[in-house]
Amino acid sequence: MNNTIDWNEKRMAQLAKLWDEGLPITQIGVKMGVSRSAIAGKIHRMQLPKRTEAKNEKADKATPKPRPKQPEVIPLLARDNLPLKLALRNITWSRSRCSWPIGNPQSTDFHFCSKDVVVGKPYCNEHCFDAYANPREGGGS
Ligand SMILES: [Zn+2]
Repeated sequence: MNNTIDWNEKRMAQLAKLWDEGLPITQIGVKMGVSRSAIAGKIHRMQLPKRTEAKNEKADKATPKPRPKQPEVIPLLARDNLPLKLALRNITWSRSRCSWPIGNPQSTDFHFCSKDVVVGKPYCNEHCFDAYANPREGGGS
């Protein structure tokens, strides 16, 4: 870049015009074949007024943008969507059926045993044994 530019009136007028048009200093430099720093220095020396572009930019930033509303998470709905809940909803469960859970509660093939219960107990004979004779350990397979 040529930093020894001759800032004659024509050049200065061109600079002022480009500056007024809102061109970035770099672009003005390219157009006039002068380095960016030379343009910046000249603009400073010429005391060119602040540009409308800069003003607009400021106005844009000052304009409060309407905040996009954050979609509220609805915990109840989320809970309803758990596979367990879905599974439970589809199970025809009655008090006379074993309610021993079978399968992974997180999976949709989860279901209850549903065999006839031992009277007074929520489980069938087999699962009463599991429930009351063996403390459940870790859930197993
Ligand atoms: Zn059972």
